[in-house]
Amino acid sequence: MTVERGMHIDILAFGAHPDDVELFAGGTLAKMAALGYATGVVDVTKGELGTRGTVARRRREARLAARELGLKVRENLGLADGNVQVTPATRLKVIRVLRKYRPRIVLTHYWDDNHPDHVHTSRLISEAVHHSGLAKIDTGQERYRPDTLLYFKLPVHVMPSFVVDVSDFTRQRLDAIRCYGSQLFDPSSNEPPTKLSHPYFLERVENIHSFYGTLIGKKKGEAFHLKGVLEISDLVGHFTGHQPGIRYE
Ligand SMILES: [Zn+2]
Repeated sequence: MTVERGMHIDILAFGAHPDDVELFAGGTLAKMAALGYATGVVDVTKGELGTRGTVARRRREARLAARELGLKVRENLGLADGNVQVTPATRLKVIRVLRKYRPRIVLTHYWDDNHPDHVHTSRLISEAVHHSGLAKIDTGQERYRPDTLLYFKLPVHVMPSFVVDVSDFTRQRLDAIRCYGSQLFDPSSNEPPTKLSHPYFLERVENIHSFYGTLIGKKKGEAFHLKGVLEISDLVGHFTGHQPGIRYE
């Protein structure tokens, strides 16, 4: 057996459709890339069931958005849009990607969502993150389990575990979202309208980011859920930004 030794990506985000990650975690990915971390996105489907746009156009849009966010990696699993299923075969596809990129942190959809693909993607990624650590699931790669799994696109009744300040990355985040021209408001388009193509859609997205920003006293924020409890090792450093060993008067 040849063991493929994977590279290391710091954060790998899985969205059901191209544009899901940009809408809910794009600012965080742009910020982490600016801090020097290696980031990537894996789209679970090609969005072929989308009311607007074509697979080819959406592929081009995803590539452009990846550039805006400074991603190192963007892949597409090619699962069926509108029919994302959790099966041994689909889990194996995700495990192969996890073992290839060995991300320290994985982001994916929160499990309570109106869109069935988002629900199933959440479960698929969560199960694969666990199974990727099992040596007897043989993919010809070294086993690997990411340290942290975080969920984005939280329902209104779920309080975030934490919010990332993305105030300085609004332009980059919006530029990445605007790459998806096939999905957004376009007065010259004859395609049927959708929730995303509504003229106020981007304003609504901004309102969500403003709301989460308000929760942390910042202009814009992105919210995440962590199963379990967030550990803080340096209480003073975390809440004040002070460094240990430095005396403050
Ligand atoms: Zn979606």
